[in-house]
Amino acid sequence: MQPAFFLRHPSLMKKSKILLTTFLAAYMSALFWISGCSHKNPHYDPAKPHHTPAGFQNNYPHSHPSRLDFWRWAVQRRLAGLPKPPTQDLSPAAPDLDFLFADSEETAVTWIGHATVLLRMGGLNILTDPHFSERASPLSWAGPRRWQPPGVALADLPRIDLVLISHNHYDHLDLASVRALAEQHGGPPLFLVPLGIKQWVHRNVPKARGHVLDFDWWDRREIPGATVHFVPAQHWSQRALGDRNRTLWGGWVVQQPDFVFYFAGDMGYSRDALDIGERFGGFDLAAIPVGAYEPRWFMRNQHVNPEEAVQVHKDVRARQSLGIHWGTFQGMTDEPLDQPIADLESALKKHNLSEQDFFLLRHGETRRLKNSRLGQ
Ligand code: ZN
Ligand code: ZN
Repeated sequence: MQPAFFLRHPSLMKKSKILLTTFLAAYMSALFWISGCSHKNPHYDPAKPHHTPAGFQNNYPHSHPSRLDFWRWAVQRRLAGLPKPPTQDLSPAAPDLDFLFADSEETAVTWIGHATVLLRMGGLNILTDPHFSERASPLSWAGPRRWQPPGVALADLPRIDLVLISHNHYDHLDLASVRALAEQHGGPPLFLVPLGIKQWVHRNVPKARGHVLDFDWWDRREIPGATVHFVPAQHWSQRALGDRNRTLWGGWVVQQPDFVFYFAGDMGYSRDALDIGERFGGFDLAAIPVGAYEPRWFMRNQHVNPEEAVQVHKDVRARQSLGIHWGTFQGMTDEPLDQPIADLESALKKHNLSEQDFFLLRHGETRRLKNSRLGQ
């Protein structure tokens, strides 16, 4: 079919767009809902309640929306024309590259976009869920697309020492970004991944071999310059048809003598946050998701909203929190990309907290942080 034919028949073009969207919705639905029962979990430990013979499950199980619910959401959002575009300016700030490249012990956090955070603590450069690609999708031509470029370009990054991966969803684990980091000047960083993802990295990024450590919930390891722990989160995993919950998901804690960092990854609200707060006794900085939460009836069990994010901030006893997982990929959720700004503001007011306690950054913006003695 010649493109000119569609140009002469715009209604046909509209119909084929609807067909394509329906096909995509069906494909994504299949990704969501088909799970492989025949798979054997090579890490299975019957003594651990979050292990299952086929994969993993949450500590505080909840019911997932049904297949019908997914279709109801897909149809409702299409009819309502959601998500609406943001009305606020979400363009990136110019990154302070001189500061990012300075040989300094000063602690500072830079939001690159979505769940990608660059944290410098104790001279280590730590990158969370690196994503620098155009789409958060298995397809290069469809799926949630960037609203603006990454706040710091991949080519402008300082040397990264440590990469923390929370789980294998496409908005958190991006193959092109992991490959590029494995090729960085001076050798690959150390990749810390949940159980099951080490094999994926070895298969897809051979250059990273020998630089990947996998963790179960509550595992703790000493690495050069820090102690790291992997901690639970109420979420799930899926990368392809039939591999639902085969690999683990969760958050990370990085401890140094005068700074402790918690990266929550992706999470619905659960008691896990209180467990983490009780175990570690607090954090200097927590990176907590504040986006992708509407409609609540569908998102509640997998993504916190700003009000719940503030509750997580309190539960884990964070001194300061940075809101992540918002404002970057259009099409993941029903709320506009800038909605978390207003919703977080009213949640903070309700809890008598300020922007000093729980802040948002522009893409590419850096905030310098004070150290404490929490890690001692
Ligand atoms: Zn996820
Ligand atoms: Zn996510």
